Formats: sequence, C-alpha cells, structure tokens
Amino acid sequence: MKGIIIYSDVLIRILTFGGSWLGIARFPFIILRSSYKVNPDMGIINHERIHLYQQAECLILIWWFIWVIEVIFKSLYYRSFSKVYYSLSFEREAYSNQDNSSYLDNRKWFSFIKYIYMKEE
Ligand SMILES: [Zn+2]
Repeated sequence: MKGIIIYSDVLIRILTFGGSWLGIARFPFIILRSSYKVNPDMGIINHERIHLYQQAECLILIWWFIWVIEVIFKSLYYRSFSKVYYSLSFEREAYSNQDNSSYLDNRKWFSFIKYIYMKEE
C-alpha cells in the first residue's frame, strides 16, 4: 500500500485547522507540503505510509478513537501539546521507523500497540 500522494499546502492548512504540518495521512491519501514535490523526502513519505497502515488496520475510526483517548490521557501527564504529540503510540512507531525503507515490508499488524506501553527514551 503506497497511498495516493497529494501535494498541497492549502489542503494541509484546511485539514489541520491552520496548522503548519509537513504532511498528514488520511487513508488512502498522503498530503504533503508542496515543497516536497520538488525535493522528495522518503522519510516523511514512509512516516505517513506507516500511518496509512495503522489507519487501515484500525478501520480509520478506531484509529481516531485511540488517538483522541491517548491525547486526553497524555495531556494529563504532559503540559505541552508537542510532548503529547511525540508520545502518541502512532507517532512513536512512525518516527522510530520512518528512516527504515523496508520497515513496512516486515511490519506486523498493530505494531503501534507496543508503543502505547513501551517506555519512552
Ligand atoms: Zn505522524
């Protein structure tokens, strides 16, 4: 599953309510900043592809449910959104493996689950 890549700064701004994210995954689409069309970055494409796999195996809605529950609980522990964001299991799996180009070839289903409990470095 490669995902359908769209390059659009406007779409990112709309989907993130004005946020300045570099890319987002909304199964089956990967939306990236326009600048990546000229200078492709396999790390960010891999990162968003990992999210597509997570979203597909969680049937999208369950992915959002887990995301919201994690944000609520981790917000009680961390005081900044960036700390909450980087502590989310989905993000930890994606950031930990985005530079491994063969990660998705060998990834087991629901691999993000171990990042819910795995101690952060
Ligand atoms: Zn991510």
